[in-house]
Amino acid sequence: MSAETLEFKAELKQLLHLITHSLYSDREIFLRELISNASDAINKVKFDSLDHDETLEGNKDWKIKITPNAEAKTLTISDNGIGMGRDQVIDLLGTVAKSGTKAFVDAVKAKNDPNSPGLIGQFGVGFYSAFMVADTVTVQTRPAGTPADGIRWVSDGQGQYTIEQADKPARGTDVVLHLKDDAQDFLNPYKLRSLVKKFSDFIEHPVVMDTDEEEGERDEKKTTVVEETLNNRKAIWLRQPREVKDDEYAEFYKVLSNDDAPPAKSLHFTIEGKSEFKALLFIPSKKPFSFDWDEPKAGLRLYVQRVLIMERCEELLPLYLRFVKGVVDSADLPLNVSREILQQNPHLDTIRKNVVRNVLQGLEALKNTQPEKYRAFYDDLGPILKEGLSRDWENKDKIADLLLFASVNTEAGKVKTLAEYVEAMPEGQVEIYYLAGDNAAQLRNSPYLEAYRAKGFDVLLLTDPIDEFAVPAVREYKGKKLQAADKGELKGDEGIADDAKAKFAPLFASLKSVLPDVGDIRLTKRLTTSAACLVADAGAMTAHMERLMQRFGEDATGGKRVLELNPDNAAVEALRTLHETSPTDPRIAAYALLLYDQAAIAEGSKVPDAAGFAKRINDLILADAGK
Ligand code: ADP
Repeated sequence: MSAETLEFKAELKQLLHLITHSLYSDREIFLRELISNASDAINKVKFDSLDHDETLEGNKDWKIKITPNAEAKTLTISDNGIGMGRDQVIDLLGTVAKSGTKAFVDAVKAKNDPNSPGLIGQFGVGFYSAFMVADTVTVQTRPAGTPADGIRWVSDGQGQYTIEQADKPARGTDVVLHLKDDAQDFLNPYKLRSLVKKFSDFIEHPVVMDTDEEEGERDEKKTTVVEETLNNRKAIWLRQPREVKDDEYAEFYKVLSNDDAPPAKSLHFTIEGKSEFKALLFIPSKKPFSFDWDEPKAGLRLYVQRVLIMERCEELLPLYLRFVKGVVDSADLPLNVSREILQQNPHLDTIRKNVVRNVLQGLEALKNTQPEKYRAFYDDLGPILKEGLSRDWENKDKIADLLLFASVNTEAGKVKTLAEYVEAMPEGQVEIYYLAGDNAAQLRNSPYLEAYRAKGFDVLLLTDPIDEFAVPAVREYKGKKLQAADKGELKGDEGIADDAKAKFAPLFASLKSVLPDVGDIRLTKRLTTSAACLVADAGAMTAHMERLMQRFGEDATGGKRVLELNPDNAAVEALRTLHETSPTDPRIAAYALLLYDQAAIAEGSKVPDAAGFAKRINDLILADAGK
């Protein structure tokens, strides 16, 4: 039979243009598409042979072979799968977007067979990606079972193809790509190896390539050709969790993360229902050496039936979980899905929600069952997790459950959860109090804590820089409001007696001109022993926040602070008496400044005028010791 020339059915020219120019952003994926087709073809023949084994003719050594031929400038992808007969070739390769795989899946579905093979390509354009790198494609194929002749199909992808009988000794398909001049690098074995590793590492059938192996000493070197398997094949996420060993998880985690330490926890689950997918996620035990804080990118590897679709699919993981590594394998997405198409895919949203829920549950379980492991994770990566408090409103409470804090009542180095804090709240305490600063030891000495201590209220000590931003976002935990200990008026200060206020009013009026940096002066019950402290107004920035912002290069001034004085402190009372008896005494201004200075020191700020401060202290020493 001589070669017949036939027209492509669809308006292929335009479609090919679309495929090669817009469907795929990266042309190297042609290899992934052809290997996937070959793998599908093998699955099909395996499935068919369940009923009649004789169709296999003893050929069960399933494999996909890639053969670069530098002389002929061809790259061949061969399989011993189901092959195609003449009509099928015309039907399947002559029509773009008519996917034989889809027809097959429909047929299998109709049979409702539990053994139905998983098939990758369901879109019907994968094969044509070959024309991104080849100016001519030759397909030689022979169908399984029938002792039919082989068929040769040749096309330049421009609207026509030829078809003829051809010698094809064994079942299966060879796709021969006559590579374009600018695609010759796809003949390079190193390149081919790395592409198979990248996209098709977990294809279940071996992808092989012949390589020369040298043996023997110098003069007697012998070159033998060996068949090298290029893919790992072990897609452990597709196995049953109980069948996967811990070291297999650890090994796979290492491949994904480059982290030397084993993961703190592996999360391996299947979601069935509207969107079906399998996921294998890892929570690192600490910040991996390679972790880049400055590159705020999250992502999971997205596979569609073992084939890598995207190295880092950002749609699958919110940023605040960017320490999580893992893969998601979905059966519901098309293989050649692009980023734009993906963003509109409703499955993705479901997958992401499930991923987030599972990660948060996994962290909760780790916290409850292996607190030390969780603590190591949290100390390193907690700051990132906390970003979720203000970003993931839906899961805010679950993230709040995962927080750990030092507090006034914890021993040095120990921490507690918000739940433990609330549990231990004494009667009469209605809010959760916190104080932010650089370190717990310094915070423990803060005068702001005096009144809370006196009442027996615990105060959380926040020392992670992000706490100042993140913790207020919690707002409420188990119905209890979170409240900064150094902000606003302390509950109960309303109760300062009017006559005390009246007694101090003249002193405060005259101090306002001495202390222009202070927004207001008032009496407080916040302090029990100290004389003075500075507080931010309810809506304003605390001193710690102000220092943080300045450290980040922000021009931050949180507005004037309120100087609070303790009426029960003897020095404060002495100052008042001095003002009452001799209101113009110059010492009043000096002592007021000293009160202000000590309040600034107490909140961790610098004394605004160090030289003036030294002089005032020295004057006091002189006045006292020089008597
Ligand atoms: P898809 O794989 O998305 O269905 P393709 O354009 O890649 O679409 O392929 C069209 C059809 O051609 C496939 O569905 C399959 O039936 C057939 N086909 C492609 N490659 C092979 C192959 N190596 N062996 C057998 N059939 C193949």
